[in-house]
Amino acid sequence: MATLEFIGAARQVTGSCHLIKTGATTILLDCGMNQGGAKADEQNEQAFPFDPKQIDAVVLSHAHIDHSGLLPKLVKDGFKGPVYCTPATHDLIDLMLKDSAKLAQKDVEWSNKHRKRAGKELLEPLYDLEDVDTLLAQRQAVDIGSKVSITGDIRIRFREAGHIIGSAIIEVFINDQRRQTKLVFSGDLGNDSQVLLRDPDIIESADVLLLESTYGDRCHRDLPTTLEEFYRALDDAAQGGANVLIPSFAVGRTQELLYYLGLRHRAGKLQQKFVFLDSPMAISASDIYHRHINLFSHEDSQAFYTAIEKGWQDWLPILRCTRSTEESMAINRIQGGAIIIAGNGMCTGGRIVHHFKNQLWRSNTHVIIVGFQVQGSTGRALVDGASHVKVLGNDIAVKAKIHTLGGFSAHADQKQLLEWAGHFKKSKPELHLVHGELDPMLALQKAFHQQYGWYANIPTAGDVVQI
Ligand SMILES: [Zn+2]
Ligand SMILES: [Zn+2]
Repeated sequence: MATLEFIGAARQVTGSCHLIKTGATTILLDCGMNQGGAKADEQNEQAFPFDPKQIDAVVLSHAHIDHSGLLPKLVKDGFKGPVYCTPATHDLIDLMLKDSAKLAQKDVEWSNKHRKRAGKELLEPLYDLEDVDTLLAQRQAVDIGSKVSITGDIRIRFREAGHIIGSAIIEVFINDQRRQTKLVFSGDLGNDSQVLLRDPDIIESADVLLLESTYGDRCHRDLPTTLEEFYRALDDAAQGGANVLIPSFAVGRTQELLYYLGLRHRAGKLQQKFVFLDSPMAISASDIYHRHINLFSHEDSQAFYTAIEKGWQDWLPILRCTRSTEESMAINRIQGGAIIIAGNGMCTGGRIVHHFKNQLWRSNTHVIIVGFQVQGSTGRALVDGASHVKVLGNDIAVKAKIHTLGGFSAHADQKQLLEWAGHFKKSKPELHLVHGELDPMLALQKAFHQQYGWYANIPTAGDVVQI
């Protein structure tokens, strides 16, 4: 009998990690980082609750750090097996994990400066670039739709998840001598109304279903309304001669924003003169998106596909990509009329916090929040209406106008989760909710009960179930 252990993203959104043991082999689904403040940092520092040397393989749903971010630590702690992922994820984690290692290094240097003065023991980074390089050599790209054997008794198949480029739902087929068990892990499930990406594949049978529940308690505002709000916020800012700051995830959301800004510009309605993509990571991610253009859904806009063939700048001619620190700092001199897209998405670091330091205290600044903000992050504080936030050690008054747009989400909402999982109705797998805060999970659990009479379990970290 195989077992499934919930290691991470149990009653929380980040730190996705699930352990499957069959008796003969042991695999991990995802090995993600915990994000969102000091408690998450502590969780990341803790030893894995299993022996990384005993893991035969990792199967990775997608490149986001809350799914992939502890892979280099796994390698540092002795994991030597392959990491299966889709080709786009293969390219993206190169970028994202190197960035993550650099951030870890920077954080440690900063802490150590203070610890040294206080006579405290110096810290080591969670992992370094060498660990990332070792991990990257263990990647094995598998196309969406191909079924492959990964251990003597486990086969897997990636299916389209429609969340970011390369994101996958994972089907796990476990053969023990007597029977085959099929587990489906939704990974992060895309929002049907997202542009550029395909919709999540529909799957109808499973024995066990692990379902994300980030937005288990709410339905997104529809896309036309969200776009209207977005364009109105941009127009308001332009008329007031203000700058617009958009904290954005480098992978996925940024490219979607570029798509809409291009659309608006081409219609002659974008009043801003410049769009700055002020994130080396988002610039590289956009290049990777461009390289995997074959994965895009072609339903959305033929004009876009014609323009994007040549590059993002052909689609949005007022786009300025600022890779260097000098170019980024030069943006500070622009007093109005610019849209500045910068990472990181939850405003806990990256270049956006420098722009916050310079502009958040001005009433003539607009901030547009376009993505999920985890508890404890600066972005969440802004969404919740904080009057002051701590930015780079400074207490900054929030005078800027904050717009929160829910409808751009890259995640399925409650209705879409129920609909997608509803296709399993006949096989009614054992259902476990993961990747959500407790309240949304409870709401989703209730909805499953009311709509399908189907019990959804909400595991805690460390729970083990037989599958
Ligand atoms: Zn994700
Ligand atoms: Zn996630």
